[in-house]
Amino acid sequence: MRFLLVLFILSFFPVHAQNLDVTSGAVAIDDGYTYLVTNKEPFPVTVKLDLKPNNLKVNTSKRVFVVPANTENFEILQMHMIKRDTYGYKASASYLIGNQTQEPLDFLYHLPYARTASYRVSQGNNSSSTHRGKYAIDFSMPTGTPVHAARGGLVIAVREDQSLGCTKPKCLEYANYIKILHKDGTIAEYTHLMVNGSLVRKGDKVNKDQHIGYSGNTGWSTGPHLHFTVYRPEFSRHNRTIPVRFWLGNSVAVNELQENRHYRKP
Ligand SMILES: [Zn+2]
Repeated sequence: MRFLLVLFILSFFPVHAQNLDVTSGAVAIDDGYTYLVTNKEPFPVTVKLDLKPNNLKVNTSKRVFVVPANTENFEILQMHMIKRDTYGYKASASYLIGNQTQEPLDFLYHLPYARTASYRVSQGNNSSSTHRGKYAIDFSMPTGTPVHAARGGLVIAVREDQSLGCTKPKCLEYANYIKILHKDGTIAEYTHLMVNGSLVRKGDKVNKDQHIGYSGNTGWSTGPHLHFTVYRPEFSRHNRTIPVRFWLGNSVAVNELQENRHYRKP
């Protein structure tokens, strides 16, 4: 026997993530709701649910979930009526690219250009200029220099339609880039690429050392260079850049590249 239940909150409440093709919402079941996420992106997403149930018992204490790539109606939790009375909930969901429930692995990155090539680090980690408070490396190189993946992963974003660059912050939005998601949830960003300078597309798998594009001088830039950074998306902050170690051949690895030194890729 069913009781008439009065719902004070809309039962399906799709939430669109900023720039991500992800929706989530609850669907009514006999005595409550099941909360579903549809992820149409080619990469997993991490979902954080802020949930305020009313007269509903939630079947898990978890509020952060990983939803696989290209998955429809992935159930993350259920809510069931506690006592026979009205019930409902309020919810808001936020999303991050990748599985962000894991810690970054210690990984030896390769220099992001061709083997035997050598380029100067024009700006290192946390320098006084545009890298203040950030882990990022600028490699000075002429426009059109082949850029290679420093680590394998999945291409999550590409922009290559811009040809503008200038030395002012107002040009920031004109940067071309390739972003690659690694299996530990970190993301590498290769920035200032030349117009039409990408050889990969969103959804492509790339291997370490694969030629992925061509450097340039687009965006906010004082001269042709490649800006390379690795970060981890977080719910609390936009991006947390992380220090990376580089492999320089045989048993040589460095924790940090030094400004104004040239580094030859083995
Ligand atoms: Zn930079």
